[in-house]
Amino acid sequence: MNIPADDQSLKKFLAYANLPALLPAIVQLTGDASLLSRFRPSASPMMGAVDGDHSEEDQAAIREIAFLALKTYRDGDGSFPPLPSDEQLTEMMNWCAGETIPPEYVPLAIEEAALAESDPRHFEWTARPTDEKLADFRVLIVGAGFGGVCAAIRLGQAGIPYTIIEKNESVGGTWHENSYPDLRVDVPNHFYSYSFEHNPDWSDYFSKRDELKAYIDAVSTKHRIDANIRLETEVLRADYDESNAMWSVLVRSSRGQEEVLTANAVISAVGMLNRPQYPDIKGVDSFDGPCFHSSRWDHTLDLEGKRVGVIGTGASAMQFVPRVAERASQLTVFQRAAHWASYNPSYRATIEEEFKWCLRHIPFYHSWYRFLLFWAGSDRVYPVFRIDPDWHEPERSIGLANDLFRQAATQHITEQLGSDPVLMKKCIPDYPPLGKRPLMDNGWYSTLCRENVDLVTEGIQEITPKGVVTDDGTTHEFDVLVLATGFHAGKFLWPMEIAGKGGVVLQDRWEGGENPRAYLGITMPDFPNMFCLYGPNTNPVIGSVIYMLECQTTYIMGCLREMLENGHKSIECRPEIHDAYNERLDAEMEHMIWRHPKVNSYYNNKSGRIVTNVPWTMFQYWDMTRSPDLEEYQIE
Ligand code: NAP
Repeated sequence: MNIPADDQSLKKFLAYANLPALLPAIVQLTGDASLLSRFRPSASPMMGAVDGDHSEEDQAAIREIAFLALKTYRDGDGSFPPLPSDEQLTEMMNWCAGETIPPEYVPLAIEEAALAESDPRHFEWTARPTDEKLADFRVLIVGAGFGGVCAAIRLGQAGIPYTIIEKNESVGGTWHENSYPDLRVDVPNHFYSYSFEHNPDWSDYFSKRDELKAYIDAVSTKHRIDANIRLETEVLRADYDESNAMWSVLVRSSRGQEEVLTANAVISAVGMLNRPQYPDIKGVDSFDGPCFHSSRWDHTLDLEGKRVGVIGTGASAMQFVPRVAERASQLTVFQRAAHWASYNPSYRATIEEEFKWCLRHIPFYHSWYRFLLFWAGSDRVYPVFRIDPDWHEPERSIGLANDLFRQAATQHITEQLGSDPVLMKKCIPDYPPLGKRPLMDNGWYSTLCRENVDLVTEGIQEITPKGVVTDDGTTHEFDVLVLATGFHAGKFLWPMEIAGKGGVVLQDRWEGGENPRAYLGITMPDFPNMFCLYGPNTNPVIGSVIYMLECQTTYIMGCLREMLENGHKSIECRPEIHDAYNERLDAEMEHMIWRHPKVNSYYNNKSGRIVTNVPWTMFQYWDMTRSPDLEEYQIE
């Protein structure tokens, strides 16, 4: 890494550096841990709080230390000291986050933030099988979103032949399919990206859809995924043949051609928010004008001057409604339940070039910035989602941290809508915050105050050719109707038909698809050599899904390593291990906000069981998935 800046420019760039990330980076660059004790630890570990709440004097001193260290590095031989000891790294993490982080997080930080090398999760064999053995083995991946691409990269590193079957015409999964106005990620981008493909060039802290799509395109090209992918082809069913431990997979191309492919192992990477859920409202197909789901946005339509109706107020509507309101003559939003949305000043902010320069050129800085976001956006906020059994107001919140969140969000809504008591009443949810998917205010409340916008909370009776009839008998007429009604999140691996040992059908095993379960969200008894990415109970409401996908991929690669190095033909989760895990998981779930009696969302199935979310901390899940415990598997 070189530092392409003269002294003056270097000082200019450093003025934009995030200090909580900068000082640990400089400690790692110089090997001088004593720098940490010269300043008190940072506070407010947020992406916007670049000063870490340090006094102006300390800020200047830290920047001067960084300047001198980087100047020395720039003019030197470019070598780095060895990775600090675990003890020192713990101190660095604590200083960066401004609080005590257990030392167990050190190996996780080394991996997730790539503190020591660019790809610590690079696949390595213990004893590499022969080329013939590898050539004889074939993995089929279903889906080329962030999960499928991650698995493909690791298989490529291992030299294991694979094919991705992708129903769309391009990679990207959700970031390919969704393209509605103002779509952007709402997890900080320097954390919501692969640990092994840092991108210092994100334009925004929460980048827009096209940039995410360009990122996954570029990563796929770099890792030569294109050579092993069949686009516009869908997997219809998969059957396990016990006699040879092979999967037969029926696929159909967009031209209707069917074919059966065989594979030793199948990795499902079909995502959780992929199949649009159209509302079960009477007359939904009868509307005369254009009517489409938010994930199938019709870009041929100009909404200028149109009367638009939107059903749904979740994360998708939160993002596109403000943009639609700017064009439509009249916009009516139908809300079934209010959602909590909080304010984040960085949400729509762009990143200054100087900040990008720091990410690109200051050794270890990108990694420490990622670590900061990881910590601040996951395990640090985990307690906000945990029910405190002694909390005195369980109706409105679930504990002190959750109540403070409620107060801040309520204050924000009051600032936005305080002068309109009717809107206030409609917009303050009656359940504790974070019970449903947390949202970020994208100008939602100010949009509701516009003259041309109506928020309707009456129930919907039916959809007619002219519009929507509500329970009070009013007909709301529209030119265009948008269904922002979400996805079949709880129907894992659906609508694929999958039959395992003895012909047992996965959706039957899952009680008609209602009760999906897997060990670690990855493996299922009776379905040998089949692995899930983003399977049941792996949705990280507190963290990043890419983090989870990487953990799962590491685990799956561990299973494949075992099979190939030892000549096993099948690996299958033991039922008692699977069942005990799910019992522990359900018990843990009782402590989480999503089980609050007032909360109902796509997280739960009809009987109230949470089937999508992971109840563990990011650390716990990482620890469980570092490598498979072979005792837990039946191996043949
Ligand atoms: P969603 O969160 O499931 O919201 C669906 C909305 O439609 C809810 O307001 C729901 O009301 C309403 N609805 C569903 N069926 C209805 C019916 N029959 N009648 C009336 N209203 C109905 O879906 P989404 O907004 O598409 O978001 C899905 C998930 O995708 C998010 O939770 C998030 O994980 C992800 N996402 C992420 C981003 C991002 O990162 N930027 C952006 C968009 C989406 P109730 O609340 O009453 O159920």
